[in-house]
This record gives sequence, structure tokens and C-alpha cells, in this order.
Amino acid sequence: MRTYEKYLREEHIPHMWCPGCGNGIVMKSIAKAAEKLGLDQDNTVIVSGIGCSSRASGYMNFDTLHTAHGRAIPFATGIKLANPKLKVIVITGDGDCTAIGGNHFIHAARRNVDLTVILFNNSIYGMTGGQESCLTPVGKNATTAPFGSVDRPFDPCELAKGAGATYIARGTAYHAKPLVDLIAQGILSNGFSLVEAITQCPVAYGRRNKMGDASEMLKSMRENAVNLAAFEKLSDDQKCDKYPIGILYKREAPEYTAEYARVIKMAKEGK
Ligand code: SF4
Repeated sequence: MRTYEKYLREEHIPHMWCPGCGNGIVMKSIAKAAEKLGLDQDNTVIVSGIGCSSRASGYMNFDTLHTAHGRAIPFATGIKLANPKLKVIVITGDGDCTAIGGNHFIHAARRNVDLTVILFNNSIYGMTGGQESCLTPVGKNATTAPFGSVDRPFDPCELAKGAGATYIARGTAYHAKPLVDLIAQGILSNGFSLVEAITQCPVAYGRRNKMGDASEMLKSMRENAVNLAAFEKLSDDQKCDKYPIGILYKREAPEYTAEYARVIKMAKEGK
């Protein structure tokens, strides 16, 4: 057994993901980040919402909670408030996190709750057959956009930054090794961390958009993902379909559960 495999539930594998799905790559990166940090399985909780990527909580060997659609972050916030010593990691997809769960996402970032949110972004609702999500690019086809989406997606990293998150990073399934480090640093960071992991759904998204098989989709990540420093030197024309990866933003701010504990103490002391 490889050392990171102790963080996976062998008895639940094989998994239910389609051949070529990127979710397994991102899940392995989380397991390897746990290995790198030597995370204690009894003091780490994984919380997920609903969707293909959220099935990862069932395959990971921690205390895990597979919750309701869009509600992983409020469950995770409750866990963190009940026991601030726990490391709490949220696994969520682009539909789960940024559409139905969008308000929870914004307000957990605003409060700077010490959670690490791993956003598996495959630009589609995979589990329900390929409806467009709010991160589906303009022009891409979905079951709910058969002639191409006209809805503009937003950048979840920019949204998290505007809302108050204190650690924001983006990686891809192609860049699996650096993704491990981005996740590990997010877990170490004391506050609301977002790691957007661009990943491929060759079945409900790639096939419909003639993007080739999983390997072609991974190659497109290799071509379009650019380290932040190099990205910033590109002209607007050169940026076109490209996007920055790496640590995009970091800052210090008071962490929510510590602030909350301070208020509880004041209330108890009658101050
Ligand atoms: Fe992965 Fe897409 Fe299949 Fe879901 S539908 S398991 S996201 S390839």
C-alpha cells in the first residue's frame, strides 16, 4: 500500500466515476496533501455536497459527511464552530458550490471561517446529465443550452477574493503534483481557503462539446493554464482562453471561530 492510500477507503473502491473522469485525480491530490501534512484522520473531517465530485467524501478515510445539494459549507461551518480544533475540508463541484450553494460560499468567505474548500470545476452538472452550471463558458453546449450557453460565467477565485477569503489558489487535474501543494497550503492556512481544481468531465461536457477524450481535455489544461507570474505578463489578446494557476491571493485576517470564541468568553464573563 502506498502511504497516501491509508487516506482512501479501499473497501469503497472501485469508484462510480466514468472512465477518464478527473475527479479521481483531484481526490488523489487531496489524499497526497493529507499524507504530506501527516493529517490525523480522527481530527480531520471531510464534508461534501451533492454531485459527481461530492461522491469523493465516501471514498476518503476520515470522518466524512455527504450532505445536501449546496449545503456542504454550512454543515462544515457548524462542525468547525462545534470543535474549532478540527481540520475541516469541503469537497464540492461548480454547480454545488457556486449556484445553489453560492450564498453559503460568499458568506463563509466573508466570515473567514477556517475551512478548506476544494472546488472541483468541470464546467457542468455531470451527475444529472450535463446541465450548464454558472461556470460553463459562453458558447459551450449543455442539455439546457443546446445551441451554446449565452450566460456569462464568473470567476470563483475573484468572487472569493471579493467576499473576503484569505487563501485562494487554482490548479488543474493535469498539474496534479503542484495541486497537492496548493491543497496542503490551503489546509495549513488559518482562514477561509479556496482551491479551485479545474478538472475534466469527458462524458457530460467534453463529448457534447467535441473536446476529445480525457487525454485531449487534459492537454488543453496543459496549454491554457499558466503560472500566475507568467500570466500577468501576457497581453489581453494573449490571455484569451488562458487562465492563471498557483497561489492567486493570500492575506491575514481574523478567523471566525476564534472571534466567536472571544465573544462567548466575554458573554460568560459578563463584559
Ligand atoms: Fe465524471 Fe462527468 Fe462521469 Fe460525472 S459524468 S463521473 S463528472 S465524467
